[in-house]
Amino acid sequence: MFEYERNKLIETIRKKGIKNESVLEAMNRVERHLFVPDAVKSHSYDDVAVPIGFSQTISQPYTVAFMSEALEPEKGKKILEIGTGSGYQAAVLVEIGLKVFSIERNFNLYSRTQDLFDKLKIRAALRYGDGTLGWAEFSPYDGILVTAGGPEIPGKLKKQLAIGGKMIVPVGNRAKQSMLTVTRLDETTYDVKETPNFAFVPLIGKEGWKENR
Ligand code: SAM
Repeated sequence: MFEYERNKLIETIRKKGIKNESVLEAMNRVERHLFVPDAVKSHSYDDVAVPIGFSQTISQPYTVAFMSEALEPEKGKKILEIGTGSGYQAAVLVEIGLKVFSIERNFNLYSRTQDLFDKLKIRAALRYGDGTLGWAEFSPYDGILVTAGGPEIPGKLKKQLAIGGKMIVPVGNRAKQSMLTVTRLDETTYDVKETPNFAFVPLIGKEGWKENR
């Protein structure tokens, strides 16, 4: 279903500059419409963020591709995602061949996506809680992907990143963020590269924004 629309979307993303074939191929295999609520299904293959309920969104496909590419994904790497939401980003990472751990703070979204993953047999470890604190039990991670925008890079997540690992995290104010690609060089040193002009829902938690306004 929607094969034509999916192919067109992948071409759009490619034209916008995404080059990593494993990311593009995975996004061409994962059926985004399965992660989008019925009321907005017709927009599943538009390159836009779509509401998924509870004031949250499934990220724009270009953003999913950008973040996945920035991780420099290689099969078997261990990735922690903060903000499971619809589960689409996590499903793309699993499809690339990554080992995925993902945390969601909204219980309704967490349980809805856990049910969907059970139904679709998507193998990822999902957890309900505050992702700004990370998931220490399975750390260090080769990659950490934060899919909500915070005021700064969460310190606990920096500590759970493997040396040589990358964290992709939008940081800014509540309306607009820059995407930071943070590479851990050694125990205490991190390199940070910035790409401006992203807009995410807020990262709410101990090391994020304090409350929803
Ligand atoms: N990756 C998601 C997808 O593919 O649908 C994007 C979802 S949305 C842009 C961001 C999600 O982050 C929301 O579901 C929100 O509830 C969640 N979130 C916000 N703060 C969080 C936190 N501290 N820990 C875990 N999840 C959080």
